[in-house]
Formats: sequence, structure tokens, C-alpha cells
Amino acid sequence: MMQQWTQAPKVAVVGGGLAGLSAACALAETGFRVKVFERRPYLGGRASSFQHPATGEVVDNCQHVLLGCCTNLLEFYERIGVQDKIRWFDHLTFLEPGGRASVIGPSFLPPPLHTAPAFLRAPCLNLPDKVAIAAALAALTPIKPRDTGESFLAWLRRHGQTERAIERFWKTVLVSALNEDIEHVSIEYAAQVMRESFLKSASAGRMGVPTVPLTELYDKAGDYISARAGEVQFRSSVDSFRAEPGSVKLFAGGEEQFDFAVFAVPFDALLRILPQTSASDPLRQTLSNFNTSPITGIHLWFDRQISDLEHAVLLDRTIQWMFHKSKLLGRSRSNGKSAVGGDGSPVSVTTNKDQGSAVDGQGSYVELVVSSSKTLIEKSRQEIIDLALSELGEFFPESRHAKLVKSTVIKEVHATYSPKPGIDAYRPRPETVWPRVFLAGDWTATGWPATMEGAVRSGYAAAQCVARVAGQRKAAFLVPDLPAKGFMRIFG
Ligand SMILES: Cc1cc2nc3c(=O)[nH]c(=O)nc-3n(C[C@H](O)[C@H](O)[C@H](O)COP(=O)(O)OP(=O)(O)OC[C@H]3O[C@@H](n4cnc5c(N)ncnc54)[C@H](O)[C@@H]3O)c2cc1C
Repeated sequence: MMQQWTQAPKVAVVGGGLAGLSAACALAETGFRVKVFERRPYLGGRASSFQHPATGEVVDNCQHVLLGCCTNLLEFYERIGVQDKIRWFDHLTFLEPGGRASVIGPSFLPPPLHTAPAFLRAPCLNLPDKVAIAAALAALTPIKPRDTGESFLAWLRRHGQTERAIERFWKTVLVSALNEDIEHVSIEYAAQVMRESFLKSASAGRMGVPTVPLTELYDKAGDYISARAGEVQFRSSVDSFRAEPGSVKLFAGGEEQFDFAVFAVPFDALLRILPQTSASDPLRQTLSNFNTSPITGIHLWFDRQISDLEHAVLLDRTIQWMFHKSKLLGRSRSNGKSAVGGDGSPVSVTTNKDQGSAVDGQGSYVELVVSSSKTLIEKSRQEIIDLALSELGEFFPESRHAKLVKSTVIKEVHATYSPKPGIDAYRPRPETVWPRVFLAGDWTATGWPATMEGAVRSGYAAAQCVARVAGQRKAAFLVPDLPAKGFMRIFG
């Protein structure tokens, strides 16, 4: 590999989330000596699972889904050999209270018209709603609008959207995808979500769901790194670093010297790690512009089936998505390595202790997801469970007759950064003022919202920078976007 080095350069990767893991895997494969520092006892960061102490169940911190357009994430899955652990769905079911379903999926028509027939048939919207939505989508089709500082809600109002179109279509899609209320979302990110998921192609918009707990998925990245002479050090929190002319010193209990370092931690964690010198000031100032938004997952175990659906989008209520986990996880539930939570991270887990038999045989396990769940943060576990059960009964009447066997509420209070108008000006590139120190993380300048794809993009981008500075001028880890199909090829 790098001719000018007497031995392979040593790289510290701080953070075992998707950004750190993707950077570490790419660098280990290219011949760097990689050491990952992860403060928790397991991998995956904000996309992880753990064995819940009170219920004894392995739960994801929250259901994670991906789309076909997540090219870097999919390449990462192939790299670590877990691509077959994702199940793909072309159709989404939108349920109204009362249970009426609108099923949206692709047709034989070329993009961007491929979902039009299903959309025209959907009973959850009336004709004026559909005409308004079609006009706004047409405005987003030719070119991705730039961030002008205007919120997407203001843009929608300027583009003549009906209240029902805003509530049942725009909010439903965007709040889940961006984890923020649309009055606080930039036009650019909203447009990106709509273009990638609804307009570009049928394959870009299909939804992937992991069939194993998240940590089982991302543990494979640890195996990949170890198989390439790398190392993953758990329960190892990096407190600070010092950049020196030819090396980077890391302080994590003791002191260790590296040729390069990639910091792949959330922005608030980075603030705590940055050296207390004036060199850090501009980055500190940049980071003070970020805010976060919460996501709440409500995990319910019933003594019987409450629906045949594997997942559904829920309209007009607090709960936004239903994932039928016992169907989606298949038979491989909890047979892998799993981790125990309670590590002081900003995740609040509250549980209703086992009230009967576990969910085997006839029972079912359902997770309800509420993105941008600001209204739930102050509510108690019991209030959230009561609200969820009452709303669930409106969509799935069978749940009213089912016995709740156990339940857990997981509030991720600082789930993701808020993609507010103007935020791109503050999202840093991987390079820093310290030539051997690089940044990664879903909040850095990836052009993507806070997603697993954004995190992997940031990891590959940081790894690319390390490799190039180390002398591999042509190193390239980032994967191209999916090509547009049909008429969308005209617009790109
Ligand atoms: C509830 C929830 C639901 C989500 N749903 C989806 C979804 O459906 N689809 C999707 O694409 N994305 C989703 N996301 C977003 C996605 O999980 C994140 O964008 C992505 O996982 C971020 O990865 P990361 O590596 O940038 O950061 P993180 O995952 O936060 O990783 C950072 C790691 O650094 C470690 N760390 C922090 N400080 C230190 C330190 N000092 N020393 C050592 N280690 C440290 C942390 O423990 C962590 O493991 C969701 C996020 C949440 C929270």
C-alpha cells in the first residue's frame, strides 16, 4: 500500500456507530492498522439493540428502516456480509383511524409517474388534495430547490396545499424521514426525501427492514475489522486528544499515539473531546448551532395477533408507524450476541414488567414509532402506553381484545440533529484544522439528513481523506447514487 511508510499507519476511530464502523472497515481493508474506541459495550451507536433487563427481550433502541437509494449503506452491508438480513417492501399501507387502508406502491409507468395510479386510488386523500400534491411534486421534479431559509411548511402553503394534503401526505412522509416538524425543516432536505423516495425510481423508493436485531447486524462490522488485523475496544471512552506535527495522541484512561484519528461521535460528544485550546474555538462555535429532536419507540407484546400487516403508516394520531416485529424478525429473534443497556447514554427506557407468558406461539410483538416526539418527552411511561393502546385500537380493533403481556417505552431524547433551514452552513467537512484529525457522523456535511446512509457516507468520506493524506491519492470509498429512471433521467 503506502510506499513512504515503514509500516502501515495506525488510525484511531473514535465511535462504533455506523460512521465509525464504515470508516474503520474501509481503512482496515486498505491496509491501515485500525483501532476503534467505543464507550459502550456494543456496536451500532444510535442504531443498536440490547437485552432489556426487565423484559428479557432483545429490543432495538428503535426500529430502523432504509430505502433503496441508500447506496453507501447497502455497499457497507455487502462489505460486512449482512445484505441478506434486509427484507424489502415495495408497498406501504397508510391506515386511517377506523382501519381504512390506502396502499401506495409502484406501477408499470415510468418515474416520476410510477406511483401515480396507486396515489390516485388512495381513499385517504380527496381529489383537491391529490391535485395540490401532484402540483407540488411537479415543482420538486425538475430541480432540487436550494435552502433559502424558508421552512418547508411555508413552501407548501405557498404551493397551495390543502390541510389534509399537509397532514396526511407531507407531514406523514417527512416527519418520519427527517425526524422534525415540517415548520422546522429546510426545503432542500424535504425535497431530497421526496425526490429519492417518490420520484426518482421504484428501486430508490423501496423500503428495507432488518430481519435481525440491529446489534446482530452491526457486530459483523467488528468481525470484519478484527479479521483485517484491526481492533475494537469496548467500554473505552476517549476523553480528549492532542494533535502533534506527526501524530495524534488520544487520552482514554491512558495515552496512546496514532498516525491519524477519525472522530465519529455525535456533535455534543465531540464538544466534550475537543482540546481546550483556541484552535478548537471555530469548531466549538459551529457545533453550537445544532439542535436535536427526539424519537420514541413503544414496544408492546400481546397474547395474540392484532393484525396481519407487517407494517403500516398510521394517519391523524400521535403514533405514526406500526412495525409488526414478531413477523419482521422471523425466527432469528435474540439468538445472536446482544448487549446490555444502562450505560448512561441519553436513552430513557421504562418498562411494564412481565404480566404473563412471553410472546411465543400465538402472541405478537409490535413496535410503534413516534418521530419528532416532543409532546411525549414529559409524559410518563403509563401515559404513553395508555395513549398508544387507545390509538392502536382505532387502527387495529383486535388489539382491544388482546391482553398486553409486557411493554417498554424507549425515548431517544437526542435522536438526531434537526435539519432546520440554514443548517448546512454549519455541517463540517471531514477535514479539520489538525491535518491528521478527521470528523465523521450523521451530522457532518454529507448532503444527507441524519440517517444510517448519511452516517456511512460520512465514514467513507473521512476514510477517503485519511487514505489520501497518507499517500493513497486515488483512494475512493464513496459509492455513486442510484441513477434516475424513466423521465427522471432528464432531470437527474
Ligand atoms: C430512535 C432512532 C430512530 C432512527 N431511525 C432511523 C431509521 O429508521 N433509518 C435511518 O436511516 N436512520 C435512523 N436513525 C438515525 C441513525 O440511527 C443515525 O443517523 C446513525 O445511526 C448515526 O450514526 P453515527 O455513527 O453518526 O452516530 P452514533 O450512532 O451516535 O455513533 C457514535 C458512537 O460514538 C460513541 N461515543 C460517543 N462518545 C464517545 C467517546 N468519547 N469515546 C468513545 N466512543 C464514544 C457512542 O457510544 C456511539 O456508539 C434513527 C436514530 C434514532 C436515535
